Amino acid sequence: MTHDRKNNRIYLDHSATTPVDPQVVEAMLPYFTQTFGNASSIHSFGQDAKVAMEDARRHIADLIGAEPAEIVFTSGGTEADNWAIKGAAYFFENRKKHVVTSRVEHHAVLYACKYLEKRGFDVTYLPPDKYGMVAPERVAEAIRDDTFLVSIMHANNEIGTINPIREIGEIVHDRDVLFHADAVQSVGKIPVSVKDMNVDLLSLSGHKIYGPKGIGALYIRSGVKVEKFLHGGRHERDRRAGTENVAAAVGLGKAAEICRSRMEEDMQTLRKLSEEMRGKLERNVSGLHLNGHQSRRIPGIVNFSFEGVQSDSLMLSLDLKGIAVSNGSACTSGTVEPSHVLRALGLPHNLANSAIRFSLGRENTSEEIDYTVVALKEILERLRGLKRGRR
Ligand SMILES: *Cc1c(COP(=O)(O)O)cnc(C)c1O
Repeated sequence: MTHDRKNNRIYLDHSATTPVDPQVVEAMLPYFTQTFGNASSIHSFGQDAKVAMEDARRHIADLIGAEPAEIVFTSGGTEADNWAIKGAAYFFENRKKHVVTSRVEHHAVLYACKYLEKRGFDVTYLPPDKYGMVAPERVAEAIRDDTFLVSIMHANNEIGTINPIREIGEIVHDRDVLFHADAVQSVGKIPVSVKDMNVDLLSLSGHKIYGPKGIGALYIRSGVKVEKFLHGGRHERDRRAGTENVAAAVGLGKAAEICRSRMEEDMQTLRKLSEEMRGKLERNVSGLHLNGHQSRRIPGIVNFSFEGVQSDSLMLSLDLKGIAVSNGSACTSGTVEPSHVLRALGLPHNLANSAIRFSLGRENTSEEIDYTVVALKEILERLRGLKRGRR
């Protein structure tokens, strides 16, 4: 599926998005044409759609150890993150005004927090350790009397590092503060239990787990109050207005069901494949540094900095050979800014600017990894040679 054999391309960017599982597509199709009813309608067309929505909700709840009533569908991970943060902020407005988060969060969290700062809230951005981990003690120190929310991601999307969420959650709860975790990169890939993690709010997304784009969910623990984000009809038990995207919800439900059924197998395969890739790179390529934690990482994400090259040239050269990877840098107005995550780890500018994230998925093979390592070796020799020639 991910190996596009006709064009001989290799997809190693599953943390950006995944292909939709054919079983998911199949499950979704009837909801465009046959069972097209509005899930809020009373008649049988509506009720059929409603049944499908609730079935999907149960699969998502089962994947994270929640109750179906605690799951609200959103337009994706970004909306779930924004809702958790702004929804909590508006609920506590004029009473409490402090949020604790980290410097390695996804932009959906970071920029929502930056926005709150403009509206008069205070935000503490905790530095991670050199592996990208946020220490529970740091969170404990940062919480103030006027803190209403702590938002710390479960697994990092660039380096794969897994945070000690359960320990952080215990601390946050002891202080009577809400705890949100962006779990977009961990849900469906490693066991996630909202109870074990002590979270009140948790974001997840469909398209990172072989489901469709434009659908996700926010887990809102029973009894937890946040302000609404979308006003209108009384959809989703009056928590999020807007006619339900039934087909996409069904797709997310199916994706969740599949992830749950094959999680052990997927974790093993991906762990093995990424270890293989790591080993082969370390044996064949010089001047490389692993970014992120050695072992506390999501299976499938491998992030390396390659001395003496720019990640964007590396990425483009790999793309010319049909290999899709990513770097965390954002190209804004022609200048390449290194990833905020790698900078937060304390990587010097040159190493932060030479990082590549390989994110593996279900369909990747050993042969693809071999091909990638050989290609990378050639490209690095050429790029580093050019650089020496220019001196
Ligand atoms: C992809 C991603 C998001 C955003 O999810 P969308 O569904 O693409 O909006 C948020 N957080 C993390 C960690 C992600 O990887």
